[in-house]
Amino acid sequence: MKASIESLGFDVSDIGIITTTQGHWDHVGDLAEFKRVSGASVHVSERDAPVLESGGHLDYRLPEGRGIIYDPIEVDRTIADGDTIRLGDTVLTAHAHYGHTPGSMSFSFSTRDDARAYNVLVANMNSINAGVKLLDSPGYPTIAEDFATTLAAQATMTPDIWVSSHAGQFNLHEIYEAGDPYDPTRFGDLAAYRAKVAEYQNAYDEQLAEERRAVR
Ligand SMILES: [Zn+2]
Repeated sequence: MKASIESLGFDVSDIGIITTTQGHWDHVGDLAEFKRVSGASVHVSERDAPVLESGGHLDYRLPEGRGIIYDPIEVDRTIADGDTIRLGDTVLTAHAHYGHTPGSMSFSFSTRDDARAYNVLVANMNSINAGVKLLDSPGYPTIAEDFATTLAAQATMTPDIWVSSHAGQFNLHEIYEAGDPYDPTRFGDLAAYRAKVAEYQNAYDEQLAEERRAVR
């Protein structure tokens, strides 16, 4: 990641603020190191901050703890729904899109190029990890409601540009190849966004129905 950032002409020591869309290890495992080399301030969801500070030890699925699996991350500021993160002229608005993790969030912001202004959404798509139970997660009692609230909220959003926490969720490697000419509209397929949200809504509905059948 460091080499990739530098190959684009940026210096990791210039990072001012670090945040994340979700408190899973594959998204936060290196954040302590990036904070160390940059002195950046870490702003994360108030509901995922304890997991990050525990180095991944706290996990709602494992009440006994899972052990420290990455360097614990010192959180400087916790954020809630509607809070903003400001750096220069860029203002991110946090959207509590809970479910995938107890504190998962999406972020929106406005930007512009020579042609026009864009509303940008960095969406945390609400996939349900294998093994997660919607009706039997004592460590996360509101998980089913949180997923439903998030999916409904995401279905109403109309970003001009959208990306998400995993490349495959916004078809990155189909719509963009390194070296392609500048064209922000390739990230502006609203139908693809709606299809992806609908896909996760269907998966949620199916799993919920299946779990309800199993407990009857
Ligand atoms: Zn995840």
